[in-house]
Amino acid sequence: MNPPISKLQAVIQCKCPRCRKGDIFTGKMYSLSFKGQITNEYCPYCDLRFEREPGFFYVSMFISYAMNVAEMITVSVASYILGLALTYDNLWYYVGLLFLTVLIFSPFNYRYSRVMLLHWLTPDLGYVPGSGDDMQLNK
Ligand SMILES: [Zn+2]
Repeated sequence: MNPPISKLQAVIQCKCPRCRKGDIFTGKMYSLSFKGQITNEYCPYCDLRFEREPGFFYVSMFISYAMNVAEMITVSVASYILGLALTYDNLWYYVGLLFLTVLIFSPFNYRYSRVMLLHWLTPDLGYVPGSGDDMQLNK
């Protein structure tokens, strides 16, 4: 039985690592309310508990940190290449630019650090064909 979507598609679409059908988050990544950033406690399709153990998502903080550093380096190098000279006069432009980068990417980092943790850094979690299908029949 083929999976409904590939693992990469499941990561991009923030789908459950076991059934690849249920959403990990309640809403959209960028919205005016914070309700979209709430992680579902259980997969709405196969009932997998996303927080595998107490404090499980603390690890995603380190992934988020690494993503932040990578984004800040990328933006700094890109602005240098695009003409923002590396002088003391431009220091606050760089600081402002990096602050803006962190602000803009924070919902992305929050979400994808958890998705990466669930999909790639949790060895006992993998795609199980047909998981949750029996639950859907009972509904
Ligand atoms: Zn699921």
